Amino acid sequence: MQSKLPDVGTTIFTVMSKMAQDYGAINLSQGFPDFDCPEKLKDLVAYYLYDRKNQYPPMTGIPELRQQIAIKVADYYDFEADPELEVTVTSGATEALFNAVQATVRSGDDVIVFDPAYDSYEPAIQLAGAKAIHIPLRIPDYSIDWALVENSITKNTKLIIINSPHNPCGSIFDRKDLDRLADLIRNKDILVLSDEVYEHMVFDGQKHESVLSHHELREKSFAVFSFGKTFHATGWKLAYCVARKNLSEEFRKVHQFVTFTTSSFVQYGIADFMVQCPEYAQELPAFYEKKRDTFCELLQPSRFKFTSSKGTYFQIVDYSDISDLPDIEFANYLTQQVGVAAIPLTPFYQTAPDTKILRFCFCKDDETLERAVEILCKL
Ligand code: PMP
Ligand code: GLN
Repeated sequence: MQSKLPDVGTTIFTVMSKMAQDYGAINLSQGFPDFDCPEKLKDLVAYYLYDRKNQYPPMTGIPELRQQIAIKVADYYDFEADPELEVTVTSGATEALFNAVQATVRSGDDVIVFDPAYDSYEPAIQLAGAKAIHIPLRIPDYSIDWALVENSITKNTKLIIINSPHNPCGSIFDRKDLDRLADLIRNKDILVLSDEVYEHMVFDGQKHESVLSHHELREKSFAVFSFGKTFHATGWKLAYCVARKNLSEEFRKVHQFVTFTTSSFVQYGIADFMVQCPEYAQELPAFYEKKRDTFCELLQPSRFKFTSSKGTYFQIVDYSDISDLPDIEFANYLTQQVGVAAIPLTPFYQTAPDTKILRFCFCKDDETLERAVEILCKL
């Protein structure tokens, strides 16, 4: 059989996490917390597991959860979503991203992505028969060069995928980025897929700029969020997409045949938690900013060079004072021989620049961060 994805191997997250395990390294590679989700949330989810909420929930997600999501996006982004028609619960943001791409593009269409790009975008585009047009982010701040975007838009461009806060770089959009994007696609047949899974991890007094809060972009965007990130529960694979009715309709046509629906009792538990603990999400930026500061302060005496991350739970570092090895080789060396696993950036590029950058994940207990950085400071 001829592969439909000949260039796709096992994701770098799986490769590095397995390597960390095989070599007993401290795992700062794949993004997942080593602390647990809130006790109260676990109690609620367990309650519904035993309350027999174990059969197919509605295709679009349970009404109670969609209602809470609508309240949340109204509060945070001033976006009045109709929970019946404009909110869809999915099995992870990965599914939502996949659905949005399949729903919107086909053979002959181009989709603009920004490199380094999260690794699920391109295979989804390829499976839809469309082509990814890669635009590099500007080094060193990993911002978007909008003039380059303007020059890359053609009559074939049908979708632009954006991601802020940005994985793996930790950069964030400001309002001007959204305005510029809106200018560029005005009166054109181009939609936006906005990956906002790290919405609650924005630091230094900045605020997350969602496409939902932008009056023009909200009409032509799919906004994707993940409970996995927000509730320290990446294994639950629960997420959602908010988009206007006409877009959600097409999104749901794909969703119903990719997964149809998603885990019932977890949805009930999260819906209750959102009612009972609205302060949880509000406290998240400060919680992660403290983690970032702890990690960066510990790493300061090392020979890694870095500027503190503006968002996400990732910190990129330049290791050029330590080694001349290419990033994949250096990440392998670090994991296998030094004892700390990280993610190289090359796998997220079509054409990788000649930089020496790794990504560390800092959503770990302080004790884990201390042990890891003690090792890293010896390099
Ligand atoms: N987009 C980005 C940028 C991510 O980092 C992740 C995390 N894996 C996802 C999407 C997928 O999220 P989920 O685990 O909810 O599928
Ligand atoms: N998003 C996570 C990361 O960036 C990994 C997700 C995955 O393993 N597929 O590390």
